[in-house]
Amino acid sequence: MIVEIINTGSELMLGFVLNTHQQWLCRQLADAGYTVTRQVAIADTGLAIQAAVRESLARADFVIVTGGLGPTSDDLTRDLIAELLGRKLRLDEGIAAGLRAFFARRGRNMPETTLVQAQVPEGAEVLPNPNGTAPGLALTVAPNPFRPGGRLSRLIMLPGPPREMRPMFLAEVLPMLQREFPLADPFVCRTLRTTGIGESFAEDRIRGPLQPLVASGLELGYCAHYGSVDVRIVTRGRAAESLAAEAEAIIRSQLGAHVFGTQDDELPGTVVALLTERRQTLVLAESCTGGYIANQITNVPGASAVLLAGIVTYSDAAKQSLLAVREETLAAHGAVSEATVRQMAEGARARLRADYALAVTGIAGPGGGSEAKPVGTVFIALATARQTLVMNPTNRYDRATFKIVTCQQALELLRRNLLGE
Ligand code: ATP
Repeated sequence: MIVEIINTGSELMLGFVLNTHQQWLCRQLADAGYTVTRQVAIADTGLAIQAAVRESLARADFVIVTGGLGPTSDDLTRDLIAELLGRKLRLDEGIAAGLRAFFARRGRNMPETTLVQAQVPEGAEVLPNPNGTAPGLALTVAPNPFRPGGRLSRLIMLPGPPREMRPMFLAEVLPMLQREFPLADPFVCRTLRTTGIGESFAEDRIRGPLQPLVASGLELGYCAHYGSVDVRIVTRGRAAESLAAEAEAIIRSQLGAHVFGTQDDELPGTVVALLTERRQTLVLAESCTGGYIANQITNVPGASAVLLAGIVTYSDAAKQSLLAVREETLAAHGAVSEATVRQMAEGARARLRADYALAVTGIAGPGGGSEAKPVGTVFIALATARQTLVMNPTNRYDRATFKIVTCQQALELLRRNLLGE
């Protein structure tokens, strides 16, 4: 079973847009047990797109092409593929009516060019697009003129915008793939998300205990991100479920509270869920992360149940007036110090009457470091009803990565505390 993906768009070639379809589609397909064997990005030029599609049709059972289905002159995918396969385009009255209704609902005149999106190659199945105007298209290429023996291929065209492509893939394309090309063997793919442990330490702890399962076919993979490591287990065959469950239990027992979630869980979501469960509240006092932790927390639906405030105190004066950090403390120890971060957390907690306060102060760089406090120095404090805990990591990264890593460490400190550690 061969799956190939072609992402079209000159914006991908010019570096204006990151090809996130590449990662997202591969991940969805891998989680469903399908392996993508080739993926290419192609500029919006006729010859290049047709050559790529012809090449994929010569090899693959299932070819997914994204982008270029819109109404503008650079949206060529539909026409080019129809031409390549010698299929005529016809106006689909259903799609045209949908487009007219779409514009009428918004009280706007429909530009004539919009109707290009109602053009459908002969024999194509239309995939509805509830989030935009260009429908997806599914073709059966049989006999396939490019493949030895004329063997059938499916050719799927999806719109470029991620908010249209992703729901269409999940609602229409994945079920179609599973129906038409069912996996020979049951398949389980599970990701355990960990934090506070490096990938080689994680591997050292689990490799031995998992060895017998690896010998029975368990596939193990690691993926390190800033501040977290994913352990991925893949099992196949009739015993896939029980093998995966056994492997997960071993990993959890070896890595303990380092495991914060599974699949697409993120640390902010885990922390919000723990606080919500306990009906407890949080306040954030941020300096060097500039509100990044508040941003991460407020990206979680339901954050309002737990987050009372996020206060960004960048200057000494703001630390004093908003968080009651004492002038003497700043004078004696500096803004980046254990004494200051303690007072930031305790001041924020007291002022907002929160159950927990997290505070961070540090030197993101590239300037501002000294011998005693080099660039990357961070102090993180967690104030609770019982105590104030402080950690002092060194995060020497660029400014954006510095914020990500510091946020991860702060949330992990809170998570461990919520778990009673
Ligand atoms: P439209 O109606 O918007 O023209 P389309 O199907 O023609 O839709 P494109 O024009 O190729 O799609 O892409 C529209 C937008 O979708 C791009 O400007 C880009 O922001 C986003 N996009 C397209 N392809 C990708 C991709 N591979 N990864 C991430 N974003 C993408």
